[in-house]
Amino acid sequence: MPDAADRPSLDAPPRPAAERPKEVFRIVARAEEHGHRARAGVLSTAHGDIRTPGFVPLATKATVRGMLPSEIRDLGYDIVLGNTFHLMLSPGAEHIRERGGLHRFMGWDGPIITDSGGFQVFSMGHGTVADEIKGRTKGKGLRGHGRIDAIEEHGVRFRSHIDGSKQVLSPERSMEVQAALGTDLAVVFDECTPFNVDREYTARSTERTHRWLERCLTFHEQHAPDWQLVYGIVQGGVYQDLRVEATELVASSRVDAVAIGGSLGEHKDQMNEVVGWATAALGGAHEKKPRHLLGIGEIDDLVRGVEQGIDTFDCAMPTRLGRHGMALVPEPEKRWRVDLNQARWKTSDEPICEGCPCPACAHGFTRAYLRYLVHTKELLGMRLLTEHNLAFVSRVMQRLRQSIIDGRLTEEAAAIRGGVMP
Ligand SMILES: [Zn+2]
Repeated sequence: MPDAADRPSLDAPPRPAAERPKEVFRIVARAEEHGHRARAGVLSTAHGDIRTPGFVPLATKATVRGMLPSEIRDLGYDIVLGNTFHLMLSPGAEHIRERGGLHRFMGWDGPIITDSGGFQVFSMGHGTVADEIKGRTKGKGLRGHGRIDAIEEHGVRFRSHIDGSKQVLSPERSMEVQAALGTDLAVVFDECTPFNVDREYTARSTERTHRWLERCLTFHEQHAPDWQLVYGIVQGGVYQDLRVEATELVASSRVDAVAIGGSLGEHKDQMNEVVGWATAALGGAHEKKPRHLLGIGEIDDLVRGVEQGIDTFDCAMPTRLGRHGMALVPEPEKRWRVDLNQARWKTSDEPICEGCPCPACAHGFTRAYLRYLVHTKELLGMRLLTEHNLAFVSRVMQRLRQSIIDGRLTEEAAAIRGGVMP
């Protein structure tokens, strides 16, 4: 934790020029028992190190909603994720660049990853089962008059959901936006295939993603700061040969790291299988490339993902649940959550979570009080639940990481799955 004096303030001068790390990813320990591919490592960026396995909270619109950057740090997080699609529409990538880049604009001096905008722009065209697995609500993400006009080889033409203006998101534009934001980790622009498409469609779409990968890398090499690292995205749907081929191709390209995206199937077993195909193909010569799993973050998925060798995860789950009155609790049979909207908590003197060291619980707030705050839509309720949920996920990840280092991942994974308080 940096001293208060080291934190950026709104009138601090811009940071000195960032530098590309000498070593992007260092593996510090492995857990290979029971066929696990788990590893603990350190992912280095121009704005600092990320301990892995690790979770990345969403700062979609340049803020982890309701939370100060220092609070995110204090909860144990090294990195946040900004959203290319949303930030390019409002307030605009060039506007943020003129304000000194996204780090300075939002007052977060640690590592930032931006996604490519591919998922959001393609979501306007199709609701997918992946949305459900990933906890996204169909049709509610982009209200208003947003829609796709055309998906072409050049890119995607669409209307902004904010003002209806005509927009284009292409490989070059996505990388241009991410370069303007000045984030540490950029993600290439891909075609995000829906779940319910056949192998033929998936194969053609995956090939386009690979042509776009090459365009992204070429643009990035010519225009982005050299310290900005790049994630390629593995598509290929639920087809093993396509996934393995895509993984090989992406990992062998000039990317610094690999993200697994697209449709991961219609249920968790299928998702685990698909992720396993990719991480198996990422061993050997590719093992030094960090692996990110896009949009996944349920507690059991985090445990399984770590076992499979995923290094980082991002997901709206902890923060969005918090804003909707749901708290994470160590109860696997209830999907690790309790709904504080329910009237049954009206007279409950229990804390959110017995034994939880987070500031919200340590203060002694009761479920009755939280239920009241949620019911009356008081800001404090959203804030406390967001803080508690982020603390919960952070501790799960810290325990998993430490257990890999200590050689006891199997026991730790079983304990978390069994409902231990993290
Ligand atoms: Zn708590």
